[in-house]
Amino acid sequence: MKRIYDAASLPEAHILAAHLATRGVRVRVLNANAAGAMGEIPMDAAAPQLWVEDARDEARAREAIAAFHAQAAGPARRCPKCGEENPPAFDLCWSCGAGLESAAGDQGVPMNR
Ligand SMILES: [Zn+2]
Repeated sequence: MKRIYDAASLPEAHILAAHLATRGVRVRVLNANAAGAMGEIPMDAAAPQLWVEDARDEARAREAIAAFHAQAAGPARRCPKCGEENPPAFDLCWSCGAGLESAAGDQGVPMNR
């Protein structure tokens, strides 16, 4: 196991874990239950952490996280099948697994910053 990322929140940690899982990287979210202990331990130590189960996946995992954050700036994508909203980086609906159609204008054009 190797620690690769400190998430800002538990939902972020779980979204990233799911994102990595779709890319074949097995990760664990640690400290997930520490929120209840906040106030007794430093915030820093209570943040959820992502650990790769296999340290050989580290580079791939960091790449996927970076790509996720680069894409996460876009709008949420609504699943055409069940209507759930998905983070922009998702290729498949987290809820029903349907393929997400590209949003209008999403044709791989680099984002203007
Ligand atoms: Zn769906």
